[in-house]
Amino acid sequence: MNKVDSRVLAAWLDDLLQAARFKDYCPNGMQVEGRSEIAHIITGVTASEALLRTAVERGADAVLVHHGWMWRNEDRRVIGTRRARMALALKNDLNLYAYHLPLDAHPILGNNAQLARVLGLEPLRGQDGAPATCGPDNLVWLGSPGEAGTLGALARRVRERLGREPLVVGDEDMPLARVAWCTGGAQGMLADAADAGAQAYITGEVSESTVHLARESGVGFIAAGHHATERYGVQALGNAVAEHFGVRVEFVDIDNPA
Ligand SMILES: [Zn+2]
Repeated sequence: MNKVDSRVLAAWLDDLLQAARFKDYCPNGMQVEGRSEIAHIITGVTASEALLRTAVERGADAVLVHHGWMWRNEDRRVIGTRRARMALALKNDLNLYAYHLPLDAHPILGNNAQLARVLGLEPLRGQDGAPATCGPDNLVWLGSPGEAGTLGALARRVRERLGREPLVVGDEDMPLARVAWCTGGAQGMLADAADAGAQAYITGEVSESTVHLARESGVGFIAAGHHATERYGVQALGNAVAEHFGVRVEFVDIDNPA
């Protein structure tokens, strides 16, 4: 079994995802330092207690996630659920790596790129291969809906491929030529998608106000699940790590209906 040094892995991931370029709500990269040799990595969407427990049970050396710890407006004290999570990592010498916006944005391995692959969306790309984007930090992607030519067909595709009933706002027969998408909790970027000419917008979550905005702007809206839309970037990243370093990488899907 191959091994990689924990700091070497952090530097490689930081470089691959250009982590230093992002102003984020959490630290990106190594969040908890564990043992120095890594042969087995568990990947997941969120560094929940359940994911950490699974990593310990399976004898992993590291956990790699999209949603890590130490978010900007959190209580910084190490008590309660935070203590329980941290104790699991520290007692078991686990490394924790987390990449938030850098993993949303990566042009090939990122959540938006991977959601497009899973849903058969065709991103618009410039000659240099960079995706056409809009919205704050260029987080919203633009493209064609592929063979899903109506809002209803696109919603069916979400249901089939993500295994989840989406919340849909708009006429099912609405024809679609241009769509926009951003994984996770990006319902606040619906207006950016509309301004960029998208006829429909797919994201993970919905707010009460999103429904009114979608109806009033005439843009079709699909909330496909925060967790469900963000399962794919970390899997692509895990595959890249396994291929480059020859270490064992396992994705663990902790069910989350939100
Ligand atoms: Zn997210």
